[in-house]
Amino acid sequence: MAEKPQSSVAAEVAAETGFLAAVQRMSATRWNYFVGQTSDFLVSFVLLGAAVAVDREHPLRALVAMLVGLFVFSFIEYAFHRWLFHGPVALFERGHTLHHQRPLGYDSLPFFFSPIVILLLAALLATAMPLGAALYLAGAIALGYALYGYAHFIVHRYRFHNAAWRAWVRIHNIHHAHPDKNFGVTTPLWDFVLGTWYVSKSKVRAR
Ligand SMILES: [Zn+2]
Ligand SMILES: [Zn+2]
Repeated sequence: MAEKPQSSVAAEVAAETGFLAAVQRMSATRWNYFVGQTSDFLVSFVLLGAAVAVDREHPLRALVAMLVGLFVFSFIEYAFHRWLFHGPVALFERGHTLHHQRPLGYDSLPFFFSPIVILLLAALLATAMPLGAALYLAGAIALGYALYGYAHFIVHRYRFHNAAWRAWVRIHNIHHAHPDKNFGVTTPLWDFVLGTWYVSKSKVRAR
């Protein structure tokens, strides 16, 4: 996808009026970022805490539900990034375009978006399986999302000294230079599976 010049996207968002534009401007603020990241962890802890309260009888089922949840999240991370954040819906795409243009900014989703989606998901899952399993599954997906948010934060901000971590940073920086490659942040699994893995021969410098 061709990147729009930073000034045009930022100017569009700044000039628009109405509720959605106000939400988009809020989504670029530092407080929205930190409230969102904190509430993402809180929602995952609340769901997993509720899961333990509801079902302590089936530890194996709980473990399997959590592993499935983390695995499912790894695909959600890839799919959202590839087809939503780099997709045609302006509400999702513009904030992410701004993130590509200013990786050290705070552009993210509105803080209330992911808690609402996760809680709706938990309610939906509870209609299809035992409540405990639904809470473990939704809690693990929520935990995966919160960890992804934290990982994406530090991949841009932390100066790693260890070679493996620096390689991880380089892989994400390649995505910023080539937005059709390396969509996975926490795992390259789906980039391998779906053919979007790319490591440049001329190394992109780690920040
Ligand atoms: Zn990034
Ligand atoms: Zn991206």
